[in-house]
Amino acid sequence: MRFLARARALRRAAALAAALAVPLLAAPALSQQASYPSRPITLIVPFAKGGPTDVVARIVSAELAKLLGQPIIVDNVVGAGGTIGTLKAAQAPPDGYTLVLGHMGTHAAAVALYPKLGYRPDVDFAPVALVARMPILLLARREFPAADFAEFVLYVRSHQDTINLAHAGVGSVSHTACMLLNHLLEINPTGVPFNGTGPAMDALVAGQVDYMCDQLVNAVLPLRTEVIKAYVIAGTERDPAVPTIPTAAEEGLPKFQVEAWNALFAPKNTPPAVVATLNGAVVRALDQPEVREPMTGLGAIVPAPDQRTPDALAGRVRGEVQKWRMVLKRQMP
Ligand code: ASP
Repeated sequence: MRFLARARALRRAAALAAALAVPLLAAPALSQQASYPSRPITLIVPFAKGGPTDVVARIVSAELAKLLGQPIIVDNVVGAGGTIGTLKAAQAPPDGYTLVLGHMGTHAAAVALYPKLGYRPDVDFAPVALVARMPILLLARREFPAADFAEFVLYVRSHQDTINLAHAGVGSVSHTACMLLNHLLEINPTGVPFNGTGPAMDALVAGQVDYMCDQLVNAVLPLRTEVIKAYVIAGTERDPAVPTIPTAAEEGLPKFQVEAWNALFAPKNTPPAVVATLNGAVVRALDQPEVREPMTGLGAIVPAPDQRTPDALAGRVRGEVQKWRMVLKRQMP
């Protein structure tokens, strides 16, 4: 009997030690979260410098650094339509020190276009906040032989074997948007991939490629200096940054409707307290003139307060993954 009593006493002692150990084990984690961030944060931008995602990342991260009290280092990790950089972020330690600025391509369309994507946008990330929404324009090199959208349609339909379009890789915003346009126009021209629409825009300005579907953020300045031209906005509302550009709906193609968006994500299992700290900083940053003025000046829409929550972003990702899976499955061979 003494043996059993001793065994029971040992079990009770072990259970008590385990109960005590949990708070002790958690203590460093809790204190780390309380002092977060205590060192610089890396923000992965899955596209090349100078493109819309990079521009938005640098505008917002400059303000976030002030609010969080730590430098934010932008790391352009390019390739495969932004999925290489996005995968790197998904596989980073969930400690809040590696984030990614994703978008409608990396965190939605890519699911339909990459059978072996390596990550699930709605599972492998902790959504932090939507950062920007932006219209997409159909852009062309200045000398493209079409004066308006109607002429563009006629020309591309009769020259699809000789023209080409630029994009930022399979599954990027520019690739996805022009896949939709090409599907609606029943054309299939050659695609020329770049590591982002920063370098793609350089090629368009140089006249090396014929057209591109890209975020307005990337086009406002070259349009103002008239080194490229735009035929339509892929939507139903004109944008005040480019008021003379008609919508696709006005030009008779209402189904050409695409809205690009950028959002901040952390790896899944990032502690909720860290996500809350990041979300709070983004919410405040989006109300600062240092962020609002350059973003709206480039034609981006700063999300409304109710669109800035992690749950709102999680719902957006789920909806967009479903939407693009439906839209793109009709176009995939
Ligand atoms: N606009 C690019 C895309 O097509 C992304 C970028 O270069 O910022 O997704």
